Amino acid sequence: MFPDGVAPTSATRTHATSTAATSTARRKARHAGPRRSRKTGRRQLTGLAAAIAAATSAVSLTGSAAPRTAPAAALTDAQTSAITAARIDRRLMMNSRDAYRLSLAATTAQARQATALKQATARTAKLAAYREQTLRRAKALAAAKAAAAAKARAQAASVRMMISGYHITATFNQGGSHWAHTHTGLDFAAPIGTRIGSVMAGEVISAEFAGAYGRRVEVRHDDGTVTWYCHMSEFTVSVGDRVAAGDQVGSVGVTGNTTGPHLHFEVHPDGGDPVDPYPWLQEHGLNP
Ligand SMILES: [Zn+2]
Repeated sequence: MFPDGVAPTSATRTHATSTAATSTARRKARHAGPRRSRKTGRRQLTGLAAAIAAATSAVSLTGSAAPRTAPAAALTDAQTSAITAARIDRRLMMNSRDAYRLSLAATTAQARQATALKQATARTAKLAAYREQTLRRAKALAAAKAAAAAKARAQAASVRMMISGYHITATFNQGGSHWAHTHTGLDFAAPIGTRIGSVMAGEVISAEFAGAYGRRVEVRHDDGTVTWYCHMSEFTVSVGDRVAAGDQVGSVGVTGNTTGPHLHFEVHPDGGDPVDPYPWLQEHGLNP
C-alpha cells in the first residue's frame, strides 16, 4: 500500500516548514485517539489509522502552503510520498515500541504476581506452623495441668483425715496422770460412735483389746509406717484386711485408760518408736 525503500530523512530535515507541520500533525494525531488507545490491539489500530489520516492531511496542507513559507523548495510528488512513508514508518516503529513496552509490563506484572503468590504461600505456611506450635503448647499445658490434677487427686486419695468433727485435747509428749510416762500420740475428742478411717492405704496387722489403749487397730501402710487407732468402741476390720485411705477401721469409744470419748492416734515409722503425729500429718498434706 505504501512505498518501501524511500529515504525520507533528507526531505524531512531540509524543509523546516514541513517539519513544523508534521509535528503539528503529530500532536493532532496524538489527540485524535484516546491516550488509553495503547491498551488493546484494536484501539492501537484505531490510533494508527488516525495518525495516518492526520499525517496525510498535514502533508497535503503543507503542499499547498509551501510556496508561501518556503518558496525555494516546492515538494514533488515523490518527496510528498517519501515524507508520508517516513511518518508512517516512525508511527509503526512507535507502535511496535509500545507493544514491546506492553509485553514488558505484562512480564513484570507476571513476575510481581508470582512473587506475591510466593509471599502469600510463605505467609500461609508460617501461620500454619505458628498455629501448630500454639496447639502443641496448649496440648502440653493441658497435659501438664491434667498430670498435676491427677497427682493432687492421687495425693488427696492417698492421705485422708482419720476423723471429722473433733477437737485436739492432748498432744504428743504431753505429761499427765493418764500416761505412765509421756503421751505417745495425738488425741481427737469426738462423740462416741464417730467414724474412724485409716489415714492411708495399708493392711490391718492388729485389731485387739490392748490394755490402756482399749480397742486398738494397727494398720501397716505401703511405706512401712504403722498407725494406731485406740480407745475405739468397735472394730470394723479384721487382721489381714486391705484398706484404702479413709476406709473405716472402727468408731470412737471410751475403752482403755481414758476419761472421755476420743481417738488416740499414733504414728510408728517402719513400725518402730512413735513420732509426733501432728507434723507427720502436716507433711502428708493434712492440717489437723
Ligand atoms: Zn491419747
